[in-house]
Amino acid sequence: MAYDREEPNMATTTASRRQQSAFKSGTPARVHRNPFDDVLEQIDRAAAVLHPDADALEPLRHAKRQVIVYVPVMLDDGHLRVFEGYRVVYDNSRGPGKGGIRYHPGVNLDDCKALAAWMAWKCAIVDVPFGGAKGGVACDPLKLSDGELERITRRYISEIFDLIGPTVDIPAPDVGTSPKVMAWVMDTFSMKKGYVEPGVVTGKPIALGGSGGRLEATGRGLLFVTRETLKRLHRDIVDSTIAIQGFGNVGSNAARLLHGAGARVVAVSDVSGAIYDPRGLDIPRVSAYYRETGQLRGFPGTQLLDNAALLRLDVDVLLPAAMEAQLTGENASEVRARVIVEGANGPTTPDADEILARRGVLVIPDILANAGGVVVSYFEWVQDRYGYFWKEPEVNERLEEKMVLAFDAVWSTRDRFEVDARTAAYILAVDRIMEARKLRGLYA
Ligand code: NAD
Repeated sequence: MAYDREEPNMATTTASRRQQSAFKSGTPARVHRNPFDDVLEQIDRAAAVLHPDADALEPLRHAKRQVIVYVPVMLDDGHLRVFEGYRVVYDNSRGPGKGGIRYHPGVNLDDCKALAAWMAWKCAIVDVPFGGAKGGVACDPLKLSDGELERITRRYISEIFDLIGPTVDIPAPDVGTSPKVMAWVMDTFSMKKGYVEPGVVTGKPIALGGSGGRLEATGRGLLFVTRETLKRLHRDIVDSTIAIQGFGNVGSNAARLLHGAGARVVAVSDVSGAIYDPRGLDIPRVSAYYRETGQLRGFPGTQLLDNAALLRLDVDVLLPAAMEAQLTGENASEVRARVIVEGANGPTTPDADEILARRGVLVIPDILANAGGVVVSYFEWVQDRYGYFWKEPEVNERLEEKMVLAFDAVWSTRDRFEVDARTAAYILAVDRIMEARKLRGLYA
């Protein structure tokens, strides 16, 4: 299933996975840390620098709305099964809630709460007028037919119908959902309203009010962030050396666009292994090979490396774009890249972060680096509400403007408070959300 995500961090997915595998193996599940505790820690990190008064900080420690719904669905075999669905809005002080719908067996309310908060950070950093939200249904989309998925989607959306809408809370694709699922979301909402409302959801197919440039937006955002980072280090993107882990939506688009901008993409990897050529890979040919064979392994004229070796390459930029927790306490001391630009969500663990900082490796955090998707989701929503669609170059130009502004804001926060870029991103997000809340005052 093709995902088209705009969403932050999968650290929670790691936790869920750990929990599930412990469950499967019969060992008692380790007491699982609530991912929202990570959010609280990040708020504290920002507060330690911003010194807000306690009354300004306290509301950030709570999600605005958390809902659990039941989703009864008739399966193809004639049996009825009840799934559990969730929708959380963490914050809507800067605008309607925004965040994906996840279909995954491990999804739960705590995950949604944390992911909703990270969406709020991301939207604040790229300065789009949205708060943070997230939802999902605990189900395994790989084991469900299209018909079953459609019925789950329609019933789930009916159950949260009063809580979503273009000015209320706007879902999008996430793990396990796709533009096709978003089309059902849009149709269900529109049918219940009695008029067509494309602005209720983003990540839709273009024919239903989706935006040009949405599919490659995350990769394009990464190009801009990588270019700006190199500029700050007085390096040109042309001829800079780049290694990319993961060749899915994010990795392959980033590779293509970075190659197009003149960078030397020397290595790329997927689950089959990594291919390496110190002179730079011919990315259009690599992509054609990947489309044909479904893997990178075997691409002629290159050296095959294992996935771990890609992370140790001596390059200017390492761009992890596969999954969470790839740079850990175990391998961070072997990283030889000067810069890490986080294409994936949560690819660097906190202990790796510390090691990398000590070694002077600059890490550009996911909530800034991979925010291109949510920016173009915002553009999709604007175009839907306006009823007028931009040409793709216009979308890309506006994306560039947003990403560069966000990068500059994080960079100057980093300089001002003398913190690492990740902490700077949290500070910026928390500060912007607190400012909006303060200006709105307390509704009583
Ligand atoms: P995807 O499923 O399209 O691609 C994942 C790629 O990673 C595949 O090529 C897979 O073979 C590869 N991979 C998996 N494990 C690997 C390993 N151990 N070593 C090397 N390669 C491995 O996923 P995607 O949409 O490209 O997302 C990638 C990451 O970016 C995820 O963390 C996702 O949450 C995040 N993200 C995606 C978007 C988006 O718009 N798609 C937006 C923001 C963040």
